[in-house]
Amino acid sequence: MKVGFIGVGNMGGPMCRNIIKNTNHEVVVFDLAAAAIATCTELGATAGGSVADVAARCDVVLTSLPLPRDVEAVALGPGGIKENARPGTVYIDLSTNSPALARRVHAAMGAGGIAMLEAPVSGGVPRAVDGTIVIMVGGDAATFEAQRPLLASFSGEVIHVGAVGFGSVAKLINNQLAFSNIAAAAEALMIGLMSGIDLGKLDQVITNASGFSSGYRSLSGKAFKRDFKPGFALDLAHKDLRLALELADELGVPGMIGPQVMNLFRMARGMGLGPADTSAMIKVYEAALSREVRP
Ligand code: NAD
Repeated sequence: MKVGFIGVGNMGGPMCRNIIKNTNHEVVVFDLAAAAIATCTELGATAGGSVADVAARCDVVLTSLPLPRDVEAVALGPGGIKENARPGTVYIDLSTNSPALARRVHAAMGAGGIAMLEAPVSGGVPRAVDGTIVIMVGGDAATFEAQRPLLASFSGEVIHVGAVGFGSVAKLINNQLAFSNIAAAAEALMIGLMSGIDLGKLDQVITNASGFSSGYRSLSGKAFKRDFKPGFALDLAHKDLRLALELADELGVPGMIGPQVMNLFRMARGMGLGPADTSAMIKVYEAALSREVRP
């Protein structure tokens, strides 16, 4: 089978490389960044010339793109997947998207005889690299079952959550929870710093006690090392939270916590931290108190 992969950045890159390493499929790659394509062709993938070229050549086309508008342009825009893929092609979007856009792309693809799964992922770059990323899939059961082996080739846990739209719903809810934990960890560590407690000891306590979360691990790990190069860019986290808050609003669910976390993101972006890692959120507290959180 010929598998196309469009968007081989922080997440798409390692997921694509795992398909190359773990299957016998012929993989054709396209990205706007030539250096990103090279990280996959070095392992045996072929470079596609454009989105249209990949769509026309492949049986299954995956995308991992930054924003909903990128997905819309690549999937439905001029020179995009719908325009160029043969009927019978399967399109799988791994990006974090809005449920409404996922449903719209699915309907448009269906009208052209192209099946679609939305398959957002969770676990960050480390789990994309080691092939244990979680994939939450929305789409019809038959298409899902047919594509399960391909998804399993770069994932530790593939979960079919329901029809198209529910994959994005699951992802947005998960990320709102994760960012809330990251924000709480930033505030907690600043309280610790200001109290004068040994931060290494506090970290040892939290890591073994009930306050621990993967958000805490990610925030403390990067803050203590002062390593804010983007695994998950703060701008992309802001996009996810904005989509989650829109979903809550559409459903009439009152926001007590999510909107507060959004304000932290807004302050961080206002400080120019959008391209940095999400854990750079700690710098909002650091700027307010002129102190650096490190043991
Ligand atoms: P990224 O910016 O590192 O990678 C995106 C890639 O898409 C880039 O290489 C870019 O050049 C390419 N691209 C953009 N527009 C394109 C186009 N029109 N045609 C071809 N290539 C194009 O972003 P990422 O961190 O890999 O995130 C990708 C998606 O995965 C996002 O939707 C994000 O929300 C989601 N996600 C990210 C993480 C994470 O930890 N980074 C975790 C889970 C989900």
